[in-house]
Amino acid sequence: MNADAATHKAEELRRQISRTEKELQDLRAQLQELESSSTNGRHDHIPEESGSGTATAPAPGSKWPLKEEEYARYGRQLILPSIGINGQLRLKSSSVLIIGAGGLGCPAAAYLSGAGVGTLGIVDGDTVEVSNLHRQIAHSTSRVGAPKVDSLAQYSRDLNPEVAYRCHGEHLTPQNAEAIVSRYDVVLDCTDHPTSRYLISDVCVLLRKPLVSASALRTDGQLIVLNNPPAPPGAADGGGPCYRCVFPRPPPADSVVSCGEGGILGPVVGVMGVLQALEAIKLIAAGIGKGDNADPKQWNAPSLLLFSATSSEPFRSIRMRSRKPKCFACSAESTLTLKELKSGSLDYVQFCGVSTPISVLRPEERISAADYNDILAQGLNTTSLLLDVREKEHFDIASIPGAIHVPFSAFQAKYRSTTGGEKPSLDWLPEETPSEAPIYVVCRVGNDSQLVARKLKDMGIDSDGKRFVGDIKGGMRAWKREVDGTMPFT
Ligand SMILES: [Zn+2]
Repeated sequence: MNADAATHKAEELRRQISRTEKELQDLRAQLQELESSSTNGRHDHIPEESGSGTATAPAPGSKWPLKEEEYARYGRQLILPSIGINGQLRLKSSSVLIIGAGGLGCPAAAYLSGAGVGTLGIVDGDTVEVSNLHRQIAHSTSRVGAPKVDSLAQYSRDLNPEVAYRCHGEHLTPQNAEAIVSRYDVVLDCTDHPTSRYLISDVCVLLRKPLVSASALRTDGQLIVLNNPPAPPGAADGGGPCYRCVFPRPPPADSVVSCGEGGILGPVVGVMGVLQALEAIKLIAAGIGKGDNADPKQWNAPSLLLFSATSSEPFRSIRMRSRKPKCFACSAESTLTLKELKSGSLDYVQFCGVSTPISVLRPEERISAADYNDILAQGLNTTSLLLDVREKEHFDIASIPGAIHVPFSAFQAKYRSTTGGEKPSLDWLPEETPSEAPIYVVCRVGNDSQLVARKLKDMGIDSDGKRFVGDIKGGMRAWKREVDGTMPFT
């Protein structure tokens, strides 16, 4: 069996295991329901979406508010002054929504289900990939290919079957956001892109839900509790700031890197996810998750926690202001409504200036990986240039023979303010390069390469079209697919 066939077979087996595990789960749930209805003669206390979640109420007639096994399970946290029996009962009657079953969502779900929240909802439309496993600790090699929501629910259920789990196997959109978020008391933003951050914040403001937001990239993370207290927009007594109060404008689109490209250290995102669970538990135990009956003294002033794994002082906390008087979403001036949000008139993708894949080159300015391989085969690469604009760590792992390395970040820094009028320095070009030598640009998946090729043209490097300047469509990912399957792709 060759390597490809073996990989294929292994994937098929993983899928089969995943399907079988799901069947087993369903069978267990059916059995549980049967046993429960035959012993109690009733099963109305079984949560609608449990799949395995058992009773959320003590046995009828019991004089204690928790079941015996719950005293055993939660004993170590029950005896803490900040939790106590009231805090535990609040946790048990609470419902928490985790948006994103990835590096943040996995540890957050683990600690929230461990702590005994009543219902845990999970939103995610992706499936488990091998590249997730170094940080998304609830998934497993045997569940590669399975929906992330199912994988995370299964992991959490194994940890604590007392919790009811609700899987929303889709991405959050303006259209489904209200229906999903309205069913929960507290929301955790465990996503990794600005477009979802603004959408989640807006819907939490409109539905008056406290929001625990975190992000992590490379070796840094940040955490903030938003909309706490969750007062209505423009409320006179003020509520906590929303995401737009803290970040009124999205980061420049070309600075947005998701961890797929920017890299991430597992424990860094793990730390941030654990902290999200901690903040949610504190909110709920203090009664804030339910909103109205909480003690206002419990509300901490909003602060932004910054974590840097490489700093000598890894944690720093910055006090934040309360709501912004002119905030688009939460101020008295806000005209944002659920109806408007649902109608799709707010274009979050456009607001963040991101559209993937980008398209700034015409088809004739792009060549396929296979076509560039022909150029190599014909030896034409000696009279043309290949510019690899991936960052150093990617380039060091593997590159196309003869490529000149100019990282995208360095390229941007160098030419940001260059316009067509000036003569830009091209010190990365070998001196003997003929002025008409074609320039091909390659990056990871074919976005940055387009931006670089476009910029080179804008700077006049293409000699008014006499010299070809373009990119390799689909970048190194396409190269691996079309030309060299052995090339490591990171
Ligand atoms: Zn706001």
